Amino acid sequence: MRIWDLPPTLLCRQHLLGEHRELHGLWNILTQGKSGYGRHPETLRWVGRLAALYFRHEALVAEMRRRGYRHRSPLDKSLATGLQVQDKRIDSLTRQYELLCGKSCPCPMVRWFPGVEAGGARGAPMRNWERGRGKG
Ligand SMILES: [Zn+2]
Repeated sequence: MRIWDLPPTLLCRQHLLGEHRELHGLWNILTQGKSGYGRHPETLRWVGRLAALYFRHEALVAEMRRRGYRHRSPLDKSLATGLQVQDKRIDSLTRQYELLCGKSCPCPMVRWFPGVEAGGARGAPMRNWERGRGKG
């Protein structure tokens, strides 16, 4: 399970939709007190940061919409409490970019420059094969 701290524009279809799905699972764990809470480092770092997780979801959805993927699973904004910015990282942004570059999928979809946080790099060109393929 991983929520990336890099701009969603970098993620291939598989990783964008995968992160979106995992974010919903994480959100349910944190808002409903489901078991598994407090074990996984990715879960732990979002404790007290539901607002930040909410904004990450919004960023993923914006990118999904830009690519023509459907989205029908809004989060309950009234639960988006706590810090609005994620200040804990498991890996540095540079390391995360290296991890993406090492995968066999099309990631990264666009070039990333150190210093560009999640939410940056908007309006990056979309590859033709990306258009209108998703349901998400
Ligand atoms: Zn990928």
